[in-house]
Amino acid sequence: MKSLTNRSKAVSNKKMSFLERIYLPAIIGGLFITLKHLFKRRATVKWPDEERPRSDVYRGRHVLKRDENGAERCTACGLCAVACPAEAITMTSMERKKGEEGLYREEKYASVYEINMLRCIFCGLCEEACPKEAIFLTKELVPTNYERENFIYGKDKLVEPVSKRVDVSKRQTLEVVSKKYNDR
Ligand code: SF4
Ligand code: SF4
Repeated sequence: MKSLTNRSKAVSNKKMSFLERIYLPAIIGGLFITLKHLFKRRATVKWPDEERPRSDVYRGRHVLKRDENGAERCTACGLCAVACPAEAITMTSMERKKGEEGLYREEKYASVYEINMLRCIFCGLCEEACPKEAIFLTKELVPTNYERENFIYGKDKLVEPVSKRVDVSKRQTLEVVSKKYNDR
């Protein structure tokens, strides 16, 4: 059979020499390789004490944004849930009542909004689909946990705190926004 690459080697059945039979040169060779790697730059990091720097447009855990006045931007239109290939997003919509204008930007809002982080594949399609610039992925990781239910992130974990805004300017550049709306 014709070989596809030139990497294959024919197996030799020749008798082993004395040095090969005592394995000493092979052991010393192996130790030398180990020693060489001791002085090389490590390819791994000591997670979780050490973290690799992540890009500003890294696709990590989500944030539900508020507008400049602190009102929730999400209008519970469901487009993110429809766009999600993993069916990770669920929500319940409610009509905004009189006097709640400061809480919710639009006439409809999500009273319940949940993302199942075990289903999510961090593709970013929810961010692309959102017409209200309400959902963004961030460079934060989803922390590990022993309980499955702790991976269902509700509004308590997703909506950004008024006092601690999440900066999404690096992923919401003018180019990104104009491409998003011109492609529709
Ligand atoms: S990042 Fe992708 S998989 Fe995760 S919730 Fe958004 S659309 Fe769904
Ligand atoms: S996050 Fe955006 S796309 Fe999803 S329901 Fe809210 S407004 Fe609609």
